[in-house]
Amino acid sequence: MTSPMPDAVDLFVIGAGSGGVRAARIAAAHGARVAVAEAFRVGGTCVIRGCVPKKLLVLASRFADDFALAPSFGWTLDGARFDWATLRDAKEREITRLEGVYARNLAASGVSLVRGRAGLAGPGRVALDDGRVVQAGRILIATGGRPFRPDVPGAELAVTSNEMFDLPALPASILIVGGGYIAVEFACLLQRLGVRVTLAYRGERILRGFDHDLRTHLSEEMARAGIDVRTRCDLQAIARDGDGYVARLSDGAHLGCGLVMLATGRVPNVEGLGLEAAGVAVDAAGAIRVTDDSRTTAAGIWAIGDVTNRIALTPVAIREGHAFADTEFGGRPWTCDHTNVPSAVFATPEIGTVGMTEEDARARVGAVDIYRTSFRPMKVTLSDIPERMLMKLVVDATTDRVLGVHVAGPDAAEIIQMAGIAVKMGATKRQFDDTVAVHPSAAEELVTMRTKAA
Ligand code: NDP
Repeated sequence: MTSPMPDAVDLFVIGAGSGGVRAARIAAAHGARVAVAEAFRVGGTCVIRGCVPKKLLVLASRFADDFALAPSFGWTLDGARFDWATLRDAKEREITRLEGVYARNLAASGVSLVRGRAGLAGPGRVALDDGRVVQAGRILIATGGRPFRPDVPGAELAVTSNEMFDLPALPASILIVGGGYIAVEFACLLQRLGVRVTLAYRGERILRGFDHDLRTHLSEEMARAGIDVRTRCDLQAIARDGDGYVARLSDGAHLGCGLVMLATGRVPNVEGLGLEAAGVAVDAAGAIRVTDDSRTTAAGIWAIGDVTNRIALTPVAIREGHAFADTEFGGRPWTCDHTNVPSAVFATPEIGTVGMTEEDARARVGAVDIYRTSFRPMKVTLSDIPERMLMKLVVDATTDRVLGVHVAGPDAAEIIQMAGIAVKMGATKRQFDDTVAVHPSAAEELVTMRTKAA
């Protein structure tokens, strides 16, 4: 669906991912003439090869846990089998549907969509890859990011998250390199779909930057699920080996596997945009430098989302895009607040987190009280499965304000969305305690923790 492209617009958005689409639609609703260019598929990483398909794979994988628990509730299951092609194709139908919804919403908002690459071509000008040049009152760069491949011999033999969603078949075994969001999410889901997973992470403990208790808890639960988690272990080389690969690791192992996946971070998509000529500065990581209101160093050019590498999360990009459009076209200036942003890691167990980690709080605030509980989720209590759930509150000992909430276990993402409101509002521990528990639930632990951790 490509709309006729006008020669001049009030706003040209480069990139039709979540952030770019939001900015385009809001600006159009404010009366602006808007065009958006997309080189790949409308919807961007989140919809096409990120959050949405990933969550579908996570949901599919967790049937394995339910099947393991079912006998303790009296169920007998006969011959449960998993078929990758069925899931992959159903997932593709769903993201194609969502892509259509995004494109239709743009059209319904009066936004012109051009399929192809766009780049900066001098002040107020955007060049399209078919040779056309469009005049634009304002330009918004929302081109997102892409997987980073470390420079090791054979790195080109590995896949990244981009390819994982469309594999012809699942391998029998996989080496996943990295210890961040994508590495742990894929490790947990693939293990449950029947793939033997080794995760190699160069650091001491996975999920750097998260609260240390969450990191330890998830490592232990991943190991319990059968994932071979190797820390202080980096990839040194990959070579072909028959139908599979052999990976040389810094722990001395030559690991044979059916596939190697690099989950070693993402880099901003800035190639071919003509940033330098346009005077748009980037930082040391290649991300576009912006002010709080998403202005770049060049007049008339703004940037939002992963290409600015502020907080690389879809809802943050959406808010940045919305704030830009309201500010520039709606006469209502505001900026996206990047503090106390809740987030979830869709590992199994799931992680939900908002606010300061214990380490942050001790460094920045000084006197903190920690409340921590670990218990068996009700779902496993009839079985001998030793799974545990972890919850933790980080509290300012002087003001009683809850600075951080950290949850690992079933429904952590759902729980943290609500806890995020309380933290954002500046709720105190006393106010948590004054809230009546919902019983029996796991989340009730957040309002019933009485004893400070030693
Ligand atoms: P992350 O930054 O989360 O993790 C990257 C990992 O790769 C880290 O463990 C890092 O190690 C490691 N690494 C980086 N460079 C190298 C290298 N040269 N050699 C070996 N290891 C390396 O990135 P992801 O790609 O997992 O995810 C990108 C971003 O996307 C996330 O940060 C998050 O913002 C977003 N995202 C959010 C999700 C969600 O909301 N659930 C899901 C997926 C992604 P080290 O720690 O030592 O630097």
